[in-house]
Amino acid sequence: MDLLKGKVAIITGGSRGIGQAIVRKYVAEGASVAFTYHSSEAIANALADELSTPEIKVKGYKSDASSFADAEALVSQVMEDFGQIDIVINNAGVTRDTLLLRMTEAMWDEVLTTNLKSIFNLSKHVLKPMLKARAGSIINISSIVGLTGNPGQANYAASKAGIFGFTKSLAKEAGSRGVRCNAIAPGFIETDMTEKLDDKVKEAYLKNIPLGRLGSAAEVADLCVFLGSDQSSYITGQTISICGGLYD
Ligand code: NAP
Repeated sequence: MDLLKGKVAIITGGSRGIGQAIVRKYVAEGASVAFTYHSSEAIANALADELSTPEIKVKGYKSDASSFADAEALVSQVMEDFGQIDIVINNAGVTRDTLLLRMTEAMWDEVLTTNLKSIFNLSKHVLKPMLKARAGSIINISSIVGLTGNPGQANYAASKAGIFGFTKSLAKEAGSRGVRCNAIAPGFIETDMTEKLDDKVKEAYLKNIPLGRLGSAAEVADLCVFLGSDQSSYITGQTISICGGLYD
């Protein structure tokens, strides 16, 4: 299984959940990986130690996805450490759920900057080396909530919907220079993010999922492998849902 052999990927929010599963699958497919975290330093160090081999480099970087300056510093450090960047997965994300009547400006700003501005931050800085190489794949993790909306998640749904417009625009800007950009819209995936949801909310979701179960982070990671690999070389500007049929 060498679908990503010789490639270098940046994966944001790689310390936990979907991001960690992507780090693991990418390494299993032969990629070297620079991943970021926000606060989980011990987990990040343990993950890098576990996965690094003489052939495959895996390194964690503390980098706040919402910071433009951090993204700039990250790209230049990864270029120095790894020498190339072939794939970027904008995965870091947060929820601050409540009904709009109760939502504070801080809750809106944190979700929009972490989930949406982050994608501008990193894509902007990685674009130059990718355009120069005339190759690259940028994968943005959105959510089906960005397609459907959800009560209590006006901030989250807006941030995830914004990703679709960004993805399509970048695909049109960079396609002629060999750089692809796609979005993934996961449904209900078992991670820390969904663990905090009320059991009743989970049961209600489950009733509407045709495949009758929640998804796993590893299943989302498989799709990221496909979109990062040359197997998807004619796919750009698309959103692929991975939601057990919840959204059609
Ligand atoms: P998670 O388990 O809560 O993990 C979030 C990851 O993002 C962690 O590695 C965290 O780092 C990192 N992170 C958070 N804020 C950050 C920041 N400001 N800078 C850098 N890293 C930051 O979440 P998840 O469920 O894996 O979700 C991953 C992505 O998938 C998110 O974009 C989410 O919106 C999306 N998604 C998830 C689901 C689902 O059902 N789980 C569904 C649709 C979409 P630390 O460990 O350091 O905190």
